Amino acid sequence: MNKTIFRSVLLACCIVMVFSLVVTLAFLNSYFINIEFDNLRSQTEMMAKAVEESGMSYLGSFDSSSYRITWIAADGTVIYDTDADESTMENHLDRPEVVSAAAYGHGEDRRLSDTLSLETLYSAVRISDGSIVRLSVTQASVLRITLGVIPYMLIVLVLAFVLCTFISKRISARIINPLINLNLDSPLENETYEELSPLLVRIDNQNKQIQKQIDTIRTRGTEFSAITDNMREGMIILSSNGTIMSINASAMRLFGGNQSVVGKSIFVLERSPEFTKALEQAGTAGRSEFFFERNGFINRLIASAIQDKGRNIGTCILIVDETEKVMAEGMRKEFSANVSHELKTPLHSILASSELLMNNLVKEADKMSFIERIHNEAEHLVTLIEDIIRLSQLDETKDFPVEPVNVAQITGSVLESLEKSAGEKHVTVVNEVDDITISGVQRLVYEIVYNLCDNAIRYNREGGSVTVRCKAEGDKAVLSVSDTGIGIPAEHRARIFERFYRVDTSHSRSTGGTGLGLSIVKHACQVLRAQIELESEEGKGSVFTIIFNK
Ligand code: ADP
Repeated sequence: MNKTIFRSVLLACCIVMVFSLVVTLAFLNSYFINIEFDNLRSQTEMMAKAVEESGMSYLGSFDSSSYRITWIAADGTVIYDTDADESTMENHLDRPEVVSAAAYGHGEDRRLSDTLSLETLYSAVRISDGSIVRLSVTQASVLRITLGVIPYMLIVLVLAFVLCTFISKRISARIINPLINLNLDSPLENETYEELSPLLVRIDNQNKQIQKQIDTIRTRGTEFSAITDNMREGMIILSSNGTIMSINASAMRLFGGNQSVVGKSIFVLERSPEFTKALEQAGTAGRSEFFFERNGFINRLIASAIQDKGRNIGTCILIVDETEKVMAEGMRKEFSANVSHELKTPLHSILASSELLMNNLVKEADKMSFIERIHNEAEHLVTLIEDIIRLSQLDETKDFPVEPVNVAQITGSVLESLEKSAGEKHVTVVNEVDDITISGVQRLVYEIVYNLCDNAIRYNREGGSVTVRCKAEGDKAVLSVSDTGIGIPAEHRARIFERFYRVDTSHSRSTGGTGLGLSIVKHACQVLRAQIELESEEGKGSVFTIIFNK
């Protein structure tokens, strides 16, 4: 830009310089010619007067070194000439100055020599007898003068060019330097020439607009990140060529990437054939989905094409953790299968016994035991169905109303209802529960205490004991049910809380167990956010500890 301005200024200076020189020369030439003509005219008039008065005698005595004098008769014949033999001279009536003098009394003309190097100025005056007196002077022509001054002109031009160059440099520097040193971040703080003010004001306005847009984009970006990073679902946005434009925290955790993957191809994160196929399908069909397992979690991946005016401009990938759903589905299926099995066994037994009785195939002495079996199985069925209903209610109920629960009261009523079974087994029950009130759900705390105490009696030895304690420990209430029973082998401890899991199925069934008691305990503890601990020694007994929040 500096060079362009410099060249432009220099060119303008040179053009002005040459133009001024030419115009000046033309004016000077015209000015000097006019002076010359003025002189010549006055000389001619003086000469004409003298010739009118004295005629040839004056001309003969006149020193004609500066001018050439020609006396021309009215018919154009040269009467006298200072420089040539008049008898050899042609008729002058066609000369412009003579024509003009003959017509108006005075005439002038200017003619160049053949070589163009000389020019002659003519002035003619008509005298009273009609003849014409003409004076002429020959001098160097404009061309010759111009050629003569060319060396001087060149010197002047060179000097002027040097001056122009210097001035052009100064001018371009004065224009450019403030532009180069402009602080475009704060345009209005620049101290520069006035003409730049409108430009600086516009830049300042644009800066403010750009800043505003950047702020808006940044705010939107922050909002977008805040929303997507707090999503449990993974979300990845890809451009049309598969470049990652945005990835949220869940997706990064899942695929083990970090923010550095933004701007890179999606295949740096995942290149499995199913994934590639899902992306292709989203591009062609608009949407695709598939399940995949990662780090023990089952995920559903949904890829949707992002369209603008019917054109695919990217892909949005959503990854939803479906582990719980899939597991719940599995558990539901397993539970249904187990329930059918658990229901069928006593029903088959009832059917078989009743058929034998109906067909009189049982000896009279055995009939009672058959009827007892039918009764026991029916009783077991009722217990089983009650437990299934309890568990389903726990599964279905989302919000249990929280209420003050007195643990001592609940333990008292549980032990009262279990008194009979404890007595049948000669098990001593020791109640060491403190008077503690926790905030919980009465029904759930009852289920927990009942099932633990029921097990402690059922899996006890004849004449054994069960001790129920509850103590306050800081903001917790620690309830423990210990027994002197058969204990639980270490390999079964982790599974006894599963639905229908039993260490010894026949023992469980013979004592009226359904395999659901501890599942109900576990579920109730989950709802109450209570912790379960188990200590057990085979042949010596078990201690179930529940830590409630008060
Ligand atoms: P069940 O109705 O069979 O008792 P539970 O879910 O209550 O079902 O218990 C699961 C299994 O855990 C029982 O079948 C039993 O084998 C074992 N168990 C539970 N409590 C005790 C205990 N106090 N002592 C020994 N084994 C126990």
